Amino acid sequence: MITVQEHLARIVETVQRLPAIGLDLLDAQGCVLARDVITEVALPGFRNSAMDGYAVRAADLAGAGTATPVTLPVAGDIAAGNTEGLHLAPGQCMRIMTGAPMPDGADAVVPVEHTDGGVSRVVVSTKAPVGQHVRQAGEDVAVGDLVMSAGTRLGPRQIALLAAVGTGQVAVTPKPRVVVISTGDELIEPGTSPGFGQVVDSNGLMLTAAVRALDCIPIRIGGVRDDAATFRSTIENQLPGADAVITTGGVSMGAYDTVKEVLSTVGTMRFDKVAMKPGMPQGFGVLGEQEVPVFTLPGNPVSAMVSFEVFVAPALRLMAGRPQQETALVTAVATHDWAAPAGKMQFARIVLSRNSSGLRSGDRPGYAATIAGLQGSHALGSLAAANALAVIPADVTSVRAGDLVSCHLLGPIREAS
Ligand code: AMP
Ligand code: MG
Repeated sequence: MITVQEHLARIVETVQRLPAIGLDLLDAQGCVLARDVITEVALPGFRNSAMDGYAVRAADLAGAGTATPVTLPVAGDIAAGNTEGLHLAPGQCMRIMTGAPMPDGADAVVPVEHTDGGVSRVVVSTKAPVGQHVRQAGEDVAVGDLVMSAGTRLGPRQIALLAAVGTGQVAVTPKPRVVVISTGDELIEPGTSPGFGQVVDSNGLMLTAAVRALDCIPIRIGGVRDDAATFRSTIENQLPGADAVITTGGVSMGAYDTVKEVLSTVGTMRFDKVAMKPGMPQGFGVLGEQEVPVFTLPGNPVSAMVSFEVFVAPALRLMAGRPQQETALVTAVATHDWAAPAGKMQFARIVLSRNSSGLRSGDRPGYAATIAGLQGSHALGSLAAANALAVIPADVTSVRAGDLVSCHLLGPIREAS
């Protein structure tokens, strides 16, 4: 038996960040930037108006006020999209729209609201300090600026900035392509009612969805029969297009545990008992020329999900160049007693909610942990109802009401009822 930490350490030491590729900006959403981006483009690229109004020379309005309005001839109209350089002569103004380039010589903008809105001549009833409502070239981003550092994850706002400075393709760490293979003679495809002795491949869908929820790319292979030759050829066929493989089922002590039978002698695969509940039978290693990491998870649904959270998700994040702090543990107060297995780390399905106060009081955290229901490793009902796993150390055999427990979030924290 090895510890959870030992198994995880072996995984984390083995998997590597994927090599960078070039992607079109939108295709790079969710990926991590592989190289710093230094801009050759300034933002704004040209001096422009921040308001709809009139581009003026501030000096021409030095004496303007409500009681002493100034009338200026309107020498032209400048709309956004105007690409000719214009010049404003002293004593004149130009009508200008938001985002339109400022004419040479103009140094301020009077918002249309402070004028009579005239088209050939305009009456202005306010002063305009130099620089008013003018966006200076480069005030946001200057040429030569480091606009984004390697390691930044690209979301909508980061994509906008890169697009604005003229980026077409970016070098990113790609999203891992993860093949999910379910094994078991009992498995049938989702969407059909299981007959006697049949089980829907819910793990296949769960793990596919989990890969997707982690913003990686899942490839699902449904119900492979418990037959060594079939399983061997399935995994061999999938390895070339995979950055990682997850299998479920066939790794425990049964007579038809094909995954273990086929993989225990290949690559660097190793099968261990890990001191955890649920999720004890685990296998991990690399296979094929590309040394693809392969995670063989147990078949029991809760064991599979807990194994994904504890072992696979950190590895996929690492491959994608993402920080591990994405999953912080939350401390909560147990609302009641429950038993924990001796010598194994427990991952108890719980409902985590805000305390009725919703606030920390003294050293009490603001969250409460309540067992979500039946804790068997087959129980999907409580797995779906839970929003966290309470992580109880191996040497703890009972949790008491009022104890502080560390919780791994699976979903949003529930509000106090
Ligand atoms: P195994 O690890 O193959 O011995 O399977 C353990 C338990 O998990 C059995 O009750 C299986 O029917 C169930 N199981 C295995 N694979 C799946 C799957 N893909 N979806 C749902 N249940 C499964
Ligand atoms: Mg099986």
